[in-house]
Amino acid sequence: MTSQVYYRKWRPQRLSEVVGQEPVIQTLKQALVQNRVAHAYLFCGPRGTGKTSTARILAKAVSCLSPDEDGEPDTTCHICESITEGRSLDLIEIDAASNRGIDEIRSLREKARFAPNEAAYKVYILDEAHMLTEYAADALLKTLEEPPPHVKFILATTDPHRLPSTITSRCQRFDFRRISPNSTKNRLTEICDAEGIKTDPEVLNTITRVSQGSLRDAENLLEQAVTSYGNTISLEQVRLLLGLSDDDRPRTLVGHLFRRETAQALTLINSVSIEGFDLQQFHRQVVQELRDLLLLKAGAGEMLDQPADVTQAQTSLLKDVKLEQVLRVLGLLAKVTFSPDTPQTLPLELAVVESAQEAIASHIDKHTSTTLEQPKVSKSIATPPLTFVEPIPVATELPKPILPMPEQTSLDPSPVPSPVTNQPENQNPLPPISRDEPWEEMIRTLSRQKGRRFNLGALLRACRHHHLEGDKLTLSFTHRSHMERMQEEMDYPESKRTLQEALTMALGTSSELTLSFTAENSEQELSQENDSPLVKAALNMGGKIVDQEDEVSTPNSTRSKEDE
Ligand SMILES: [Zn+2]
Repeated sequence: MTSQVYYRKWRPQRLSEVVGQEPVIQTLKQALVQNRVAHAYLFCGPRGTGKTSTARILAKAVSCLSPDEDGEPDTTCHICESITEGRSLDLIEIDAASNRGIDEIRSLREKARFAPNEAAYKVYILDEAHMLTEYAADALLKTLEEPPPHVKFILATTDPHRLPSTITSRCQRFDFRRISPNSTKNRLTEICDAEGIKTDPEVLNTITRVSQGSLRDAENLLEQAVTSYGNTISLEQVRLLLGLSDDDRPRTLVGHLFRRETAQALTLINSVSIEGFDLQQFHRQVVQELRDLLLLKAGAGEMLDQPADVTQAQTSLLKDVKLEQVLRVLGLLAKVTFSPDTPQTLPLELAVVESAQEAIASHIDKHTSTTLEQPKVSKSIATPPLTFVEPIPVATELPKPILPMPEQTSLDPSPVPSPVTNQPENQNPLPPISRDEPWEEMIRTLSRQKGRRFNLGALLRACRHHHLEGDKLTLSFTHRSHMERMQEEMDYPESKRTLQEALTMALGTSSELTLSFTAENSEQELSQENDSPLVKAALNMGGKIVDQEDEVSTPNSTRSKEDE
């Protein structure tokens, strides 16, 4: 019952229909309009986020007989139609997972030399490109180095790190992000409306939640629900379909862990296993539950978007539980990995026992160490700093995004001892981590984005300070030329939009942007600025320049980060 009718039917046909990938789409459109399409692209990102769909649209767009002024394919000419219908000889899709050998790539190289059949370009889409063998990748490299002019390559991968850098460096890279819950829900609503499916928002919330940022999964789940239950779907049906039922055992297990009820926890795990329930799925639910509890405890519960009774149950579970306790248990559970060589229950059982022991250890620790910093722990963490909220829209994949979160709470200026300290002798607070991880990540992403004239990442790197106050973000530059370049880019709508989107992703808020210039007592800068008659007069009177500032305000349209 894994038909993909909705997914195929609702597959985007134009770049503007691709959901949730605005920065990528924007840049591709630009390239198309300016006729500067690269010969090789690398589309990275989680499954179901639109990489292959975008690749196909791009294949249409480069060969479309009458593209529109945005570079979009018309979808109606015979080239577009043959691609849509999957019968174009000039779009070659290769699943590298099953064609990963050198022979396949050699044959690709041979065929690539021949001119396209009828389209302007031959486009090769190499899906799961990281699966290529080393030799195959080597063979591909030769083609990427000297591609025939009529060939475009689009490599798609969920795992770019596994591709040799020789390959990635020859491709223009785009990172596809997880689709936000809102975008997923909007898309599902659209499909329901068009297909005459009756359901309530809670159903779509549940599907969205389970699909974890993969629109394809969400669409397929919706379709499975319709196949199973017809055009009216209830919450119970969806929960049954998803194996969620009304099983509150993940929460029960978490309760046992909080209360250090080792025996009960072990019994529960084994009863789940004996009933034939998939323990890995159970484990995912437990981690998801802990993550929800963490958000709730940290005051970010509104992000959860779940039924009121669930929140109520979670709130009562959290009564008398400290945030550090949630962190500790979550840290342990998130590390659990299953191996085919050990009894299925063992990894969870070990985590349970370890959790109980650590709890005892940290208990002793607390009572033997001085209490100098202890009171601050819960207090400083309980007030979630803004950036704490940032990773949430993409944090649904478990367990990876979970772990950095506790570290981000250390943004609070007061010293926060490690909340997951597990050795009694370890009295040191966590080493200070980069407080600007999201910021740096944003710069890395933007360093692949050229604005009208300048590279946006490079411009941001030149920004000496950034300061967020309320919804006002001030970028301070110590060189006037840097600020002016940034200003120039901000006057250009595309650049401004790209930056704005990146900022929204990084800071979790769309903010009004102000550029400011602060000379760092730099003589060179000062001397340039001393021409003002007022300054001259002041200097003549014995005045001294201690600081210079001027500001150029760039009000940005307040865009909701979710509404696309
Ligand atoms: Zn066309």
